Amino acid sequence: MCFKLNNPVKSLIAIILLLPLSVIIASEVNIYTSRHYDSDNSLYEDFTKTTGIKVNIITGKGEALIERIKSEGRNSTADIFFTADAGNLWKLQKDDHFRSITSKSIIDTIPKNLRGPKNEWVGIAKRARVIFYHPERVSLDEVKNLSYEDLSNEVWKERIVIRSSNNIYNQSLVASLISNLGIEQTEKWAKGLVSNFARKPQGNDRSQILAVANGEADIAIANSYYYGLMLSGSVGQDQQNAAKKVKMLFPNQNNRGTHVNISGAGILKFSKNQRNAEIFLEFLISPKVQKHIVNNTFEYPIIDEISPSPFISQFGISFVQDQTPASDFGKFNSDSIKLMDRAGWK
Ligand code: FE
Repeated sequence: MCFKLNNPVKSLIAIILLLPLSVIIASEVNIYTSRHYDSDNSLYEDFTKTTGIKVNIITGKGEALIERIKSEGRNSTADIFFTADAGNLWKLQKDDHFRSITSKSIIDTIPKNLRGPKNEWVGIAKRARVIFYHPERVSLDEVKNLSYEDLSNEVWKERIVIRSSNNIYNQSLVASLISNLGIEQTEKWAKGLVSNFARKPQGNDRSQILAVANGEADIAIANSYYYGLMLSGSVGQDQQNAAKKVKMLFPNQNNRGTHVNISGAGILKFSKNQRNAEIFLEFLISPKVQKHIVNNTFEYPIIDEISPSPFISQFGISFVQDQTPASDFGKFNSDSIKLMDRAGWK
């Protein structure tokens, strides 16, 4: 059977058929990200392939992007801010730059302690701030029940390395201690820790692990994924060899657990593509993408059904994780900075 249609009707049908397509073509999501992983690019490509939504990326340092979003205000094209450390997310949250995430599947998936107080942001992957030790100079007996608190004991005099206090990872670690122990006790601890430093704080997290490997110190505090990165060989053979010389240990296993922070993201208040932004966040916490993240950045998955990378999981998967709300890392950020300054932590 064949319908003969006149021209105006044909045009109308053509317009109706083309309309959804044009909407799809115009569909986009704009992401400001401080994540510096090449492997994230293939995630964005995969997202566009799967959903038809174009991803526009602006990368920069966390602090710079936060300032940019603040100064752009309602003129900002940013839909999503994607960054490492809840302390950074909190800096936008406190000035009301996010809107609450409403997707039920996101809220139901991400544990409450890894979301903003009003779901302004959510964790996408986890990282633990752990202890690295040299097994020839530190026995397992000496460290197996170790807590962050113990690192202020005199037995560790001139044996510990950690990066400077202007680093957000350290600010969040100290904020977590303030949340659990209070300012007075944390300050006492920080003074003891500083007096145990093997050298003036310098370099990034990987430099601390290297310092333990080459004998400058016996213990380092650094984020777990850097160790996976080094062991994987993707940052060179020297760093791989160095990483093999040290062991990773989860502190505070007999009490509140190891300090866990997040890579996380929030949708901005002035986002013009709110639904696309939620679809993107739903995509990030899907099993397929979680698997990609853990095997490329060596972070811990935010969902239980995916296992961490074998480079990391060899030291245990089911360690006790501190449940302190990640929003406390932001809430106590300025207390933490002032406290480290008073303790002489450079
Ligand atoms: Fe990092």
